[in-house]
Amino acid sequence: MHEKRVLIVEDEKMIAELERDYLEASGFEADIAADGREGMRKYVSETYDFIILDVMLPEIDGFELCRAIRMGSDVPVMMVTARKEDVDKIRGLGLGADDYMIKPFSPPEMVARVKAHINMHEKLKTSGKDDRRAEKNEIRIGELRMVPDEYRVYIGEKEVNLVKKEFDLLLFLAMNRGIVFSKDSIFEKVWGMDVVSDSSTVTVHINRIREKLREADPSHEYIETLWGAGYRAK
Ligand code: CA
Repeated sequence: MHEKRVLIVEDEKMIAELERDYLEASGFEADIAADGREGMRKYVSETYDFIILDVMLPEIDGFELCRAIRMGSDVPVMMVTARKEDVDKIRGLGLGADDYMIKPFSPPEMVARVKAHINMHEKLKTSGKDDRRAEKNEIRIGELRMVPDEYRVYIGEKEVNLVKKEFDLLLFLAMNRGIVFSKDSIFEKVWGMDVVSDSSTVTVHINRIREKLREADPSHEYIETLWGAGYRAK
């Protein structure tokens, strides 16, 4: 097993080095980028298991960088800020950050969170792989076809473009077809230990998935709502 690699994007040298030292003392490999542009460059050219992202950065700020990372990757991201008012933004902007901490924070707590997020992320990835094998790489509901290895969804010949979480949610329901899940249990299964969002995001995602599926196939409702109980794939 390789050492887990963490990218620290932080312009305050002392904080960056403190984070790096604590991570290295816990067996991680840590890399520092001193501004948003360097962070972007490193993220694109290297592979990381976790990214710690300061909000206020020269060149490209943390919000923008987080958005850019989420376009192409589901690597866990923890945002860090000194301003409490940023928290609403982190929660509200749909950036896809997995966690946040407010400066000054305790380095051991930071390390604990990094570990927990990496473990959870790996567990989800592995369980996904097992399911895929069992399902012979395709999951079908009528005309709907999901190919988890490729993150692709089709209805008939038409491809439906879902973002990562929409895909994960639909895959979860499709693999448990017919079973009703409450919003809370869907959130727990699909979002894991995401502390930035809450279960209300499930409704938002279900609505978006439905819209996209309807566009490709108006004749069938793939996700059924059972009022007061939850959702199921049918
Ligand atoms: Ca800063």
